[in-house]
Amino acid sequence: MTQNPIRTRIAPSPTGIAHVGTAWMSMFDLALARQTGGQFVVRIEDTDRTRFVEGAEEKIYEAFEWLGIDYDEGVQKGGPYGPYKQSERLNIYREYIDQLLTTGHAYHCFCTPERLTKMREAQKKAGELPRYDRHCRNLTKEEVGQMLNSGTPYVVRLKMPDEGVIGWEDAIRGHVEFDVKNVDDGVLLKSDGFPTYHFAVVVDDHLMKITHVLRGEEWISSTPKHLLLYQAFKWQPPVFAHMPLIRNADKSKLSKRKNDVSILSYREKGYLPEALLNFIALLGWSHPNREEIFSFDEFLKIMSLDRIQKTGPVFDTKKLDWMNGVYIRNLSRQELVKRLEPYLPADFPRERMDILLPLVLERLVTLKDIEELTAFFYRPIEVTAQVLSRKNTPEVAATQLSETISALEKNQSWQASELEVLIRQLQEKHEYKKSQYFMMIRVALTGKEATPPLFDTMSALGKELTLERLKHAQHLLSSAKTV
Ligand code: GLU
Repeated sequence: MTQNPIRTRIAPSPTGIAHVGTAWMSMFDLALARQTGGQFVVRIEDTDRTRFVEGAEEKIYEAFEWLGIDYDEGVQKGGPYGPYKQSERLNIYREYIDQLLTTGHAYHCFCTPERLTKMREAQKKAGELPRYDRHCRNLTKEEVGQMLNSGTPYVVRLKMPDEGVIGWEDAIRGHVEFDVKNVDDGVLLKSDGFPTYHFAVVVDDHLMKITHVLRGEEWISSTPKHLLLYQAFKWQPPVFAHMPLIRNADKSKLSKRKNDVSILSYREKGYLPEALLNFIALLGWSHPNREEIFSFDEFLKIMSLDRIQKTGPVFDTKKLDWMNGVYIRNLSRQELVKRLEPYLPADFPRERMDILLPLVLERLVTLKDIEELTAFFYRPIEVTAQVLSRKNTPEVAATQLSETISALEKNQSWQASELEVLIRQLQEKHEYKKSQYFMMIRVALTGKEATPPLFDTMSALGKELTLERLKHAQHLLSSAKTV
């Protein structure tokens, strides 16, 4: 059986950062479109002017580009069903609002914000669900005409039926239904002339010929309203797939207070786009062979909605860290160097990359780590007598260092393996406590207790710098014991 081309869309609101949830949903949208020879559309839902943030839309495109999420139609790419930005479609919404008013599926509401507030307070007090009390639903034609003529501000509301059940077959959740009694006469057109989300989304999904609507679970309770609009217009509704809600570790809805949810800040922090995509692909979806590491191309081919779970997946950045490391180490040396470039500080000695990279490769979690992990090599380090003598007295530590310095001074070769033999011999000969001795040298050379393998580090630093740092450490210890 051949599947008809699926048209999907992502409908982000430009209200701030480009959210990981947007990229996540888009991957699934794109997969459905690609698998069936359909299209994936990016539509900007900017009708909530109070939440509009200048520049937010551009961030979305930038984030998509960085991740390699390709789309077919949108503001920048154009397409047959534009404009793809809701604020440029106001005349279209007006036309359809008029249609609903004429057919009696919608009505003008002139209630003032003060009246609505009072109404809600009273409902709250009475323990009722806050909802519009349909005060304006039965105004006569004449009354409406008069109010309109006198320029009274108004909204347009959906006339919900009094009773009945409205349901659909959700591609992820199966049959879902709501009693219309519990659905409010929602606003379709606001007093500023802008449509609400509910109205614009239905008109646009229809006009843009969207066949499958993937969206967050938080929209489920809005779907009856949307279905009613489809009915009112006599339009065929799309297939709905309500994706599970991504959660913080404490199971609350993924939020920027508890997690970093900005796509571009993962770029800033040195994550690879392919690792981030792989990580988010596994939020709520699983690979048919239970694989953890797979490419975006593979995902696009094998994704199927029936492998999406209903329960909200946890956004576990520890897993992302692990994946990023795997992806970093899978890159060719040449490619890795290229990817590291934007993260290298100005004083990084690029000509020594061949020596430094192997030292830290195993410990890179993000590309940005390169700076911190290699800084001891090209910047002055900070050491104190206190840290150097943490596991021994300053006197003993100073003596150990002076033995080490004389042995090293005589040594010509600076190969890691030979340095290792030499230092180990010294340690055995004097019966230095291994962990303390090696740690002290490590601190003296790098200022840190956790570093790349000691002898490789020494070799990379070279004879001159190694001796200089050991002597400085010895000097610190000698001054410490005299006080
Ligand atoms: N603009 C809505 C949002 O930001 C889109 C919801 C939908 O996909 O229908 O989540």
